[in-house]
Amino acid sequence: MFKIGCHLSISNGFLKAAKEIISIGGNTYQYFSRNPQGGKAKAWDQKDFEGFMEYAKENNIEGLLCHAPYTLNACSSNPDIREFARMCFRDDIKNLENFPNALYNFHPGSHTGQGVDVGINQIVEILNEIIYPEMKTTIVLELMAGKGSEIGRSFEEIAEIISKVNYKEKLGVCLDTCHVYSAGYDIINNLDEVLDEFDRIIGLDKLKAIHLNDSKMPFASNKDRHEKIGEGTIGLDAIVRIINHPKLKSLPFYLETPNEIEGYKEEIELLKSKRSC
Ligand code: FE
Ligand code: FE
Ligand code: ZN
Repeated sequence: MFKIGCHLSISNGFLKAAKEIISIGGNTYQYFSRNPQGGKAKAWDQKDFEGFMEYAKENNIEGLLCHAPYTLNACSSNPDIREFARMCFRDDIKNLENFPNALYNFHPGSHTGQGVDVGINQIVEILNEIIYPEMKTTIVLELMAGKGSEIGRSFEEIAEIISKVNYKEKLGVCLDTCHVYSAGYDIINNLDEVLDEFDRIIGLDKLKAIHLNDSKMPFASNKDRHEKIGEGTIGLDAIVRIINHPKLKSLPFYLETPNEIEGYKEEIELLKSKRSC
């Protein structure tokens, strides 16, 4: 099955968003656990959740991807911001544990001048504090474009974080096609080599989700500007190879393109028509 969806708001609940994704031809979606700029998560609504679970079962929605707020920075030089990251992880994971096997995607963080080594150690420290043995949620590190002092701009940095976390089996990776291209991995001309490199350094078994985006920026620019599918520097042909690649095709794909719902619907239709089977 082609698992395809887009980013949706759950401000009106999980069930409403599930109906929305089905209405535009998708079968999974990504949502923010709380306002992307931070703040409090809205209170857990058990009735909505149960309604969602029933609807998801009837409509073959397999799983969702929860995205942490952008303000979660586990390696800020500011201890208050690191404390917010801890709180946010704990709070969001508590909700996610209601799902049978949730995925929680976060940006590893920006070291804000402390240097990569200090940054990685602070991320690891927090992950080791918040992960517990019975946790069912998989925490997914998103590969970043490498703007500013962003950590997670290379397979090596992601692998180093994973290697230092005690419960490695609770971690996964999300490949964002816009980010990875901006970070200097040539997924247009060398997709097989890039995936081989990923496998060698991180392990393809760790890959849990794909953020499917075109890019407004040139190759290896370290800039993070998403573009609509087929309208950017990556282009439709490369994206079609990605959704059909034997090593990727069983993964869930999430659009984070600059679109309203109608645009997402068109992209989902286009991608489904280009999917081999
Ligand atoms: Fe992201
Ligand atoms: Fe992304
Ligand atoms: Zn991005």
